[in-house]
Amino acid sequence: MAFNPLNWLLGFFSLDIGIDLGTANTMVNVSGKGIVISEPSWVAIDKRTREPLAIGAEAKEMVGRTPANVLTVRPVRDGVISEFEITQAMLEYFIGKVHQQSIVPVPRPRVVIGIPAGVTKVEKRAVYDAAISAGAREVYLIEEPVAAALGAGLPINEIRGSMVVDIGGGTSDVAILSMKGVVVSRSLRVAGDELDEDIIQYVRNKYNLLIGQRMAEHAKIAIGSAYHLPKEKTARLRGRNLLSGLPEAIEVSSVELREAMSSSVQIIVDTVKDALDEAPPEIVADLMDMGICMAGGGSLLQGLDERLTNELNIRAWVAEDPMSCVARGAGIALENLPMWNSLFVGLGRDGRG
Ligand code: ADP
Ligand code: MG
Repeated sequence: MAFNPLNWLLGFFSLDIGIDLGTANTMVNVSGKGIVISEPSWVAIDKRTREPLAIGAEAKEMVGRTPANVLTVRPVRDGVISEFEITQAMLEYFIGKVHQQSIVPVPRPRVVIGIPAGVTKVEKRAVYDAAISAGAREVYLIEEPVAAALGAGLPINEIRGSMVVDIGGGTSDVAILSMKGVVVSRSLRVAGDELDEDIIQYVRNKYNLLIGQRMAEHAKIAIGSAYHLPKEKTARLRGRNLLSGLPEAIEVSSVELREAMSSSVQIIVDTVKDALDEAPPEIVADLMDMGICMAGGGSLLQGLDERLTNELNIRAWVAEDPMSCVARGAGIALENLPMWNSLFVGLGRDGRG
């Protein structure tokens, strides 16, 4: 291609944005700056007009507290982009926010978006279209586990296997990669949200106490675990007693929460094991050196790394800043689009968006 000074200038000033469109959290990485936005993937809408009223952290605050005319939704829940218009509003808001942050007027950004593995063609198209109408100049889609591996610094372009387990809110994704390609992958709808649900159910059955989603998540983060702790802990839960109808606070222990979450945790462990079972032996040998990299907020559950290590006989380790791996990986892909071209999810014949 002939050198075009205009294009060169455009490239120099333009924004490159990596977005992790997670089921629980959206993270935005700007090349040269790092993570600039990290907000819950929540949108509050007017029930009648379906106009967005609040997006991100503000919308999450409203969850469980809305009046009759307001609805709070997570458009990417369970790894499925269910609400096109709402997803678009969310992308517009996040892309617009970054665009406004730059001091000089800049051309429309190039965007790489991490999307949940296993979304349908229609959904991919929807995200692509949403990003274009949200103001992106070029859009590339990358599957989240692949982006997570890139962001975690795994050598996925080399001729040896690496493995990533990304545990998010709605889905857990497992991928074994080699030579910029996926060798084995698994995706399941058991992840952080399900653990919260488990806690709600457990407390309801054992104590007749009804607690909210956020209370459950809070307890999980504070004292939840997947393996016995050196020192077990307790937390206070507040909710409504279902028998008396009155507010009540109780104390639960980390042992109880572990029991509450145990079958879901086991499902995640078994899925990782399944993926390993399917990997060719040369790759298994590689993984014995490198271990299994864990990413996503769910990987922060205490003792999950130990649990995996113990059950799989391969060392599992949590990536640095596991919640931002996907967005940072998308940023790395943007730095050298031709090099990572094979990783992008194709929408059309040319293999890009
Ligand atoms: P997604 O990619 O689906 O948006 P994230 O990677 O942002 O999801 O992870 C969100 C999930 O991680 C939530 O279920 C949240 O409760 C959980 N999480 C965050 N921090 C912790 C922690 N310290 N311990 C256990 N779970 C955590
Ligand atoms: Mg994620």
